[in-house]
Amino acid sequence: MATRQELTAKQRQRLADFIAPFLVRPGSKVSLAKDFDPGFKAGLKNKKAGVALLEEGVRLLSEYQARLAAQDTWGVLVVLQALDAAGKDGTVRHVMSGVNPQGVQVHSFKVPSAEELDHDFLWRYASRLPARGDIGIFNRSHYEEVLVVRVHPENLDRQKLPKASTKGDIWKRRYREINDWERYLSDNGFRIVKLFLNLSREEQRVRFLRRLDLPDHNWKFSAADVRERERWDDYHRAFSEMLSHTSTEWAPWHVIPADRKWFARIAVGAVLVTTLMELDPRFPTVTKQQRQALSEVKRALEAQAPEGAARDPFERARRDAKTAAKSARGDDKPQRPATGGANASELGVERSE
Ligand code: AMP
Ligand code: MG
Repeated sequence: MATRQELTAKQRQRLADFIAPFLVRPGSKVSLAKDFDPGFKAGLKNKKAGVALLEEGVRLLSEYQARLAAQDTWGVLVVLQALDAAGKDGTVRHVMSGVNPQGVQVHSFKVPSAEELDHDFLWRYASRLPARGDIGIFNRSHYEEVLVVRVHPENLDRQKLPKASTKGDIWKRRYREINDWERYLSDNGFRIVKLFLNLSREEQRVRFLRRLDLPDHNWKFSAADVRERERWDDYHRAFSEMLSHTSTEWAPWHVIPADRKWFARIAVGAVLVTTLMELDPRFPTVTKQQRQALSEVKRALEAQAPEGAARDPFERARRDAKTAAKSARGDDKPQRPATGGANASELGVERSE
């Protein structure tokens, strides 16, 4: 059950400061290897030090997702990109662990099918977008169209493009088309959160070895992943170019340090919570007339109480609980100011002063 919980202005500021180093400033030229450290951990000592933060993130996500669904105005698309073994699947599993599965859909994009190749390159992604009120997660995404397709141009050959469409700088054109598409989506109420899990070459080597050494993990190992590893520099160039050209005001990229899985999960949770807080979805409010209609129904149901039964057992239980809480506190003043319909930022500002 979602209860209204807001962060104070100070907590919000701390969250903003925490995610600031991950943001790719729109228009900046990125050199992934130089600009972002896969081992960064924001001064957190170890996994243990981060447990409470992850739990807090999961709790807030669950609450905001319930509001997002109830308001049914915004949709959120989470785009996850990474090199192999960076932990995309585990991140989804952990970060979304508290969220109602009805409101979340995950799509994993693989090598395109014949049917998909018979359409424009954005078609298969467009057909899997989240609805309003939902969170959609793309595990790999339309960005593969400027990553694996760029590193392995034979993928482009399979896309059956007319000759004229492959002339000039096709990658620059795709960046523009992707940016335009994302702008269209965000103008229409779909927020796009783009996360690149940034793994170091050495940590990838260790994780591959782990997949080989642990029988339970053998299934995760693919010889193709090791072949892709040999193209590390090409991928890094493609990632750097992608980040430089597609981090926009309406859909910026975040580069998540991924050498420590626990840190990546906290960071992803923090970016998602921040996005949802900015949208600030609300449970729909009931109008005066609606409330009046509800009261009439309530009276009718109360009148149907059988002999000896409470007219409204729920109301009585609530009253009893309130009285018990009051006497336990030893006073009759409310602990917090009654904030009823105040919005999140008002609340935050109020409490910081
Ligand atoms: P995995 O995520 O490990 O299941 O692998 C999915 C595979 O699909 C990866 O090797 C990707 O490179 C590949 N893939 C995903 N999208 C595309 C695409 N648009 N074109 C070609 N290959 C793709
Ligand atoms: Mg794989």
